[in-house]
Amino acid sequence: MLVFNKDFTQQEAIPDKGIEKALEVLRSGRLHRYNLLPGEKGLVCELEEKFSAYMGTRYCLACASCGSALFLALKSVGVRPGDKVLCNAYTLAPVPGAIEHCGARTVLVDILDDYTIDTDDLAAKAEASGARFLMLSHMRGHIAHMDKVMSVCERFGLVLIEDCAHTMGAAWDGRKSGTFGKVACYSTQTYKHMNSGEGGLLVTSDDEVIARAIIHSGSYMIYGTHTSRPALEAFEDVKWVTPNYSLRMDHLRAAILLPQLEKLDTQCSRWNELYNHTENLLRDIPGISCPPRDPREHYVGSSIQFNIAGVSADVIKKFLAETAARGVQIKWFGNDVPVGFTSSYDSWRYIPDLPELPNTKKVLATMCDMRLPLTFTIEDCDIIVAVIRDVLADILKS
Ligand SMILES: *Cc1c(COP(=O)(O)O)cnc(C)c1O
Repeated sequence: MLVFNKDFTQQEAIPDKGIEKALEVLRSGRLHRYNLLPGEKGLVCELEEKFSAYMGTRYCLACASCGSALFLALKSVGVRPGDKVLCNAYTLAPVPGAIEHCGARTVLVDILDDYTIDTDDLAAKAEASGARFLMLSHMRGHIAHMDKVMSVCERFGLVLIEDCAHTMGAAWDGRKSGTFGKVACYSTQTYKHMNSGEGGLLVTSDDEVIARAIIHSGSYMIYGTHTSRPALEAFEDVKWVTPNYSLRMDHLRAAILLPQLEKLDTQCSRWNELYNHTENLLRDIPGISCPPRDPREHYVGSSIQFNIAGVSADVIKKFLAETAARGVQIKWFGNDVPVGFTSSYDSWRYIPDLPELPNTKKVLATMCDMRLPLTFTIEDCDIIVAVIRDVLADILKS
């Protein structure tokens, strides 16, 4: 019986350059981003400069996590307690969590069969709710038809915040994911495209948004040491009315991230080799479908999702148990109860008036989700798909 022996949660080592830089930081003792010698810029500022240059945005702010960056982004574009924030229902728990953190109310929007936001439902919910904000989560790297999203935003005057936890390095129609909205947030948590354990990066080209975000993030009155910022006048009014939420990044994490940023595009290509190979094989398995991807979508396939057509929850549970017994770790967003990192939108019971979202329910019910870490090879993907093929054939036969 074919069994897969590698761990789906194992990441590559931090590059040697990052380890050396981290040791320098540790030896200096100056870990806090504002613990700088006279004339010293510091690695967090360097990371912010380099990431905003990579993105082509004017500003970047390094944060404690993507979830905290999303919270800062919402606060900084002016979300107030009680405000409504639209959000696609296929997303990860920290996203509605960030909205709730602002005291705002999440208005969930249905998704299409290709896992991206349903822009017709978006328009309907924008109209019915009167919401002024859209938190668009490019969940698992699936990028919606951005022209349609932007036209709904324009029609209803929605301020767009992009959750790019899985689209660092991705683009839509030649434009980087994260440059469509007023502000975008990225994760540098271990399972995303750069790994500092925890960490987040917020980008924007808006002077007022970055000034607020910097002060909210916990800059005290030392915001002048930031190098990715507008002129000091932008902080003059803001500094009196902007609470310090203490959500900074430190030099140690910036040290680890800087050499990873240099390799980011190479890593993204490596992910796509694994992804495209695996997707092609999965598509040949009777019963399995991967949604078509728009040619304009330049994705980063750090994980793969697929549906098993028309099967019951019991069949999915059996499939997951048997693939797991053979070493293939697959996750499922369709479970009635939240498990591990996954949960369906209807498990977020703190959201007021949880809506019925028939297509999200239908799609999640048979959607499987699998990591493709860069510690895997093409041959590993062959074994994984062979296990999936065998297990599914056995189950569908019986
Ligand atoms: C991981 C993730 C987040 C949260 O990132 P953290 O850095 O862990 O806070 C937000 N959105 C999506 C889609 C994610 O996958």
